[in-house]
Amino acid sequence: MRCAALIVAAGRGSRFGGERPKQYLDLAGQPVIRHTVRRFRDHPLVDAVVVVADPSHRACYEEALADLAIAPPVTGGDSRQESIRRGLEALAAADPPELVLIHDAVRPLLSPALIDRVVTALSDADAVLPVLPVVDTLKRVEGEQVVGAQAREGLVRAQTPQGFRFATILDAHRRLAGAELTDDAALASALGIPVRTVAGEERNLKITTPADLAEAERRLVAGQRWRTGIGFDVHRLVPGRRLVLGGVEIPHEVGLAGHSDADVVAHAITDALLGSVAAGDIGQHFPPSDPRWRDVDSAVFLGRAVELVAAAGGRVENVDVMLMCERPRIAPYREAIRARLAELLRLPRECVSIKATTTERLGFTGREEGIAAQAVVSVALSA
Ligand code: MG
Repeated sequence: MRCAALIVAAGRGSRFGGERPKQYLDLAGQPVIRHTVRRFRDHPLVDAVVVVADPSHRACYEEALADLAIAPPVTGGDSRQESIRRGLEALAAADPPELVLIHDAVRPLLSPALIDRVVTALSDADAVLPVLPVVDTLKRVEGEQVVGAQAREGLVRAQTPQGFRFATILDAHRRLAGAELTDDAALASALGIPVRTVAGEERNLKITTPADLAEAERRLVAGQRWRTGIGFDVHRLVPGRRLVLGGVEIPHEVGLAGHSDADVVAHAITDALLGSVAAGDIGQHFPPSDPRWRDVDSAVFLGRAVELVAAAGGRVENVDVMLMCERPRIAPYREAIRARLAELLRLPRECVSIKATTTERLGFTGREEGIAAQAVVSVALSA
């Protein structure tokens, strides 16, 4: 079922102070909201991501998310509920999904497994809420004075992403517009729609104070593990073929022979991506004997490898490519190749490097019988 993520980022964050809204503050080298959006965008069960933002934050928004190729932001309203209603209406007007996950931009640390749990529970529920137990003893106070106790039995803490059948929650928001309920599960409950709970996560904390931001940074850095993958590929240069390197066609009197478009750069990166999560090699996933891959654009292989990395909980952080090629000169095409690969790998361009060398006329590359490429990728695995 098609699933969209609606990220609510219209809040002004009055408890934080300062000029910059908290969803755009730096967290381990990236704006908070960029972490959040990437968690959804990179998840294999999520097909689309829409952010509801305050137009007065436009500059922050552009800086944080412009290169991520998600839908344009939806303008938020005066309240959280109104912002979400507008986001849902925007989804309804475009290409309505079957499922929607509604999430706070200031909860950047959720795991892919939590998204899995919420989406899976939606297969037989209309509304799904991640919850955590209350472990501290609860008291009632007036001022500084304890005036009673509150039993914690039957109480839980509610988190996001809250998941819904899209049509159900859209209808609830339309019928209860202006009701100012605390969250989307409350709207469902108000209309008598059963809300199913799944286990939330302590790590999925909501950043509301500077101390929360420091704690999120600590958890993010402590929980991160790194993987590296290496890839290598060679194709023969022959007359009558196109020369495609890194998804860009380069004018040349000969081109690369192969079953697909024979893009050695894309193939080396594909193998490096597969290697980073020990998911086999390109020949296993796309056997040359399979007619489906005949003359295919190697962007297909790259896209599939990126999906496999994401499915393993990984996020590609950078790629470095070394081309071994006597001719043509690669420098005039370097920026076009970087731009195309950045798009295919969903990376900022500064995380994509293309280098080329001749082999001093030595060996098969030196004799212009073929072109070789090596690639190394780094992948961050979220805990
Ligand atoms: Mg190849």
